[in-house]
Amino acid sequence: MQNPLRNLPSVTDLLKTPVLSSVVDKVSHSTVVSAARRVLDEVRSQVKSAADAMPVPSPQEIADRVAQWVQKQDKPKLKKVINATGIVLHTGLGRAPLSGTALGAIQQIAAGYCSLEIDLESGERSQRVDAVEDLICEVTGAEAAVVVNNNAAATLLVLSALGQGKEFIVSRGQLVEIGGNFRLPDVMSSCGAILREVGTTNKTRVGDYEEAIGPNTAALMRVHTSNYAVVGFTESASLAELVELGKKKSLPVIDDIGSGALVDFKRYGLMHEPFAPESIEQGADLVLFSGDKLVGGPQCGIIAGKKEHIKKIAKHPMMRAMRVDKLVLGALVATLRAYRDVAVAEVEIPLLSILNTPLDNLKHRAERLAPQLAVSGLFQSCEAVEGQARLGGGSLPNEILPTWCIAMVPKQGSVETLSKQLRVGEPAVMGRIHDGKFLLDLKAVAPAEDLQILSAIQNLAKQSS
Ligand SMILES: *Cc1c(COP(=O)(O)O)cnc(C)c1O
Repeated sequence: MQNPLRNLPSVTDLLKTPVLSSVVDKVSHSTVVSAARRVLDEVRSQVKSAADAMPVPSPQEIADRVAQWVQKQDKPKLKKVINATGIVLHTGLGRAPLSGTALGAIQQIAAGYCSLEIDLESGERSQRVDAVEDLICEVTGAEAAVVVNNNAAATLLVLSALGQGKEFIVSRGQLVEIGGNFRLPDVMSSCGAILREVGTTNKTRVGDYEEAIGPNTAALMRVHTSNYAVVGFTESASLAELVELGKKKSLPVIDDIGSGALVDFKRYGLMHEPFAPESIEQGADLVLFSGDKLVGGPQCGIIAGKKEHIKKIAKHPMMRAMRVDKLVLGALVATLRAYRDVAVAEVEIPLLSILNTPLDNLKHRAERLAPQLAVSGLFQSCEAVEGQARLGGGSLPNEILPTWCIAMVPKQGSVETLSKQLRVGEPAVMGRIHDGKFLLDLKAVAPAEDLQILSAIQNLAKQSS
């Protein structure tokens, strides 16, 4: 029998087909050639491994596959997504959106040169943290501060600088896993720190810490259990109690507050979330928090506290590997400057403005958008409904944020299919499925994105017609 693979077209033949010659006009010749080789390889191995004789696809079919492959490769995997999930600080979607001022700062700094490590007054070399240290101190009340890549790096650096081979006393109820397999005990052991667990999952008293203190103790540590809550019969030592104990035993107290608000979130009718100025005021020696959670800035980890500890941390060799780049620094400075006046922060910083938006605004937007989306003819029902959004990012896990959504049931196909079509559509939109309906939650959707949602639905309707 003749080898069926002999009928496979060559790369040159494929490139001559009308479909691929038009693709070559759009992307480079070499991109199409390597895609063609790949698809031909795939076809060869499919034919060879087929149990029964398998017909070799026609040149036209193969050319179409090459065109599809090129098209898929041409789409960047990292792209803008409209967050209609109702999870405001969605880690998978990049957490906090940045303020316009932060974006402006990034653009200016990225486009040219900047005073990253030069003091313009003296013309001398400076430290890059100088650009932001005073600001962090101003908004938190701390004596000194440094900034690193994220809060996980902050934890690692603090433990390494303060006590390699020494013990850190932590309550058993606070040994959290923060998603993405970030487990505090693992972080501690990875840098040679020894974890000394005290108390039980639901109860730890300050006396438990005191009993565990020994000659090898480096510090007392409190970790905010951001993403879960132990409720019911619980007790934990307060920061004030730990600070008092630390003073008595000459041990520093480290407060990993995680989400790290810079304003009291009670303002937005939310539960009290540990906030950095309060920890400093209560006497924590070091406070650690993320820049892209409740601060609403770029991804980074902020370490604020007493000068003597910050000095040690800043000099640690690992600091160099964890430092932030000029773009993050620029965005952080712009974000923190807004906090000098809470009224300004609430307008400028998207996270705060989302929390501060009256529910009626969302209702009006949902009621306006729903009939516009319904015009597409794609839905059996499409209406504005009330819903429940969440803060996310491991913050305030029990807290429900009232919101308005557009609830849809497609005429054809399942809600799962609709969800996927919008995810891979243009622009990409992510919603959530609830009670058999597909919801687009407007909580974290910027008003200017309403029209983009409309065009995503219109594009989908065009495709399906
Ligand atoms: C989120 C969180 C972290 C990790 O912060 P990243 O900035 O994501 O690295 C660490 N500790 C606590 C308590 C957190 O909530």
